[in-house]
Amino acid sequence: MFHAAINEDMLRRYDVAGPRYTSYPTADRFGPDFGETQYINALRSCRGGTPSAPLSLYAHIPFCESLCYYCACNKIVTKHHSRARPYLDAMKLELDRVVSHLGSARWISQLHLGGGTPTFLSDDELSEWMDHVRHHFQWAPNGEYAVEVDPRTVTAERLRALKEMGLNRLSFGVQDFDPDVQAAVHRVQSEDKVFALVDEARVLGFESINIDLIYGLPKQTPQTFAQTLERVKALRPDRIAVYGYAHLPTRFKPQRRIALADMPPAADKLHMLSMALDVLGQAGYDYIGMDHFALPNDGLAKAKRHGLLHRNFQGYTTHPDSDLIAVGVSAIGRVGATYNQNVKTLEAYYEALQAGHLPVERGLSLTRDDLIRRAAIAAIMCAGELLFQPFSEAWLIDAKSYFAPELEHMQALTKDGLVRVDAHGVFVTAMGWYLVRIIAMGFDRYLQQQAQPLRYSKVM
Ligand code: SF4
Repeated sequence: MFHAAINEDMLRRYDVAGPRYTSYPTADRFGPDFGETQYINALRSCRGGTPSAPLSLYAHIPFCESLCYYCACNKIVTKHHSRARPYLDAMKLELDRVVSHLGSARWISQLHLGGGTPTFLSDDELSEWMDHVRHHFQWAPNGEYAVEVDPRTVTAERLRALKEMGLNRLSFGVQDFDPDVQAAVHRVQSEDKVFALVDEARVLGFESINIDLIYGLPKQTPQTFAQTLERVKALRPDRIAVYGYAHLPTRFKPQRRIALADMPPAADKLHMLSMALDVLGQAGYDYIGMDHFALPNDGLAKAKRHGLLHRNFQGYTTHPDSDLIAVGVSAIGRVGATYNQNVKTLEAYYEALQAGHLPVERGLSLTRDDLIRRAAIAAIMCAGELLFQPFSEAWLIDAKSYFAPELEHMQALTKDGLVRVDAHGVFVTAMGWYLVRIIAMGFDRYLQQQAQPLRYSKVM
């Protein structure tokens, strides 16, 4: 349907780079004016919150045993597992320091272990981390406690250990099942092992299983990707994320190992996206937005149906906006009306902590305009509508006048059938959900002022 509805002219105009809006303003707007002092002030202003203001916690574990050539993450490739111990100690120290300012009254309702490869840490080390979090915070009932899993690094026994630590969600990085594609990106993992692990995760009672796929990888063709989609259908995870590969070799060094000649042409890439939308839709998955699909009884699909979706640094979520404490090298957090990001190298991270500091490198204090636009972008990307009257009342503005230039801009998107604008608001159409980043970009003041070429991933 998507393929049929989008014509060549639209393809050319909308084949642009754009933010994923896991935050607004986006992380490239963070600056060095925001540092440790500002972060501490933000933490202290939240001190003494109640369990009714739940907290999210993200821990970034940067180590990976081998390099995937498509990788755009902040990671350190090493086979030396002895590097995990000092890193774990540093993360614990960072959390202690955060808690000394924030207090520990609030409950954790979302926890995410990401990377890199979180399971680079041994079960004992991960368990020590979880105990340390429990030492500081109570855990909310019905919370989402998730870990990213590289199928090459875990066994059934390790999954059992993760479950016993209190983790209840798994996200498997599969990307593609085709052996040639796996070889071309230097990430070879057997299909049998993925199937066995997912089966085991179900037996163990993990509440939600996510599979990540990537389209647009080297050696991928619509035919090979169709086979991967068939295998994923057979796996039937609760959630599937299908990301478009962004080939930016000047920015991400590992990608220089990918031969340009192996890259699928843009038309094939679009075909693969279209195929994913059709195949997963026919297999009973609900389309959530951007790259996300979920089975109808999954919390994400229910939240979309009831207009209760939210978005944070991990993408779409069912949990309302909450403060996010992020620890670890390069981790990005959100506290009150601020964002903070840690230093990006291990050396700088250890150095800051040893010197008695919080390892913040940059961040941003949001202006009122930032907050208004963040709410508008969230309304578009999560609810698929920006209703003028409630929005005006919530922000004490006249939304129609405030966004007059943006509504003017929406006219072109209206002609292409992506949005409908009437006296009551802006409404994302069924077609518009596929290009919802384009609609959100219309409300991004920084993009409107941008003189430099964009450095984001492509929206398709
Ligand atoms: S894609 Fe994931 S597992 Fe691969 S190198 Fe990057 S962070 Fe590590």
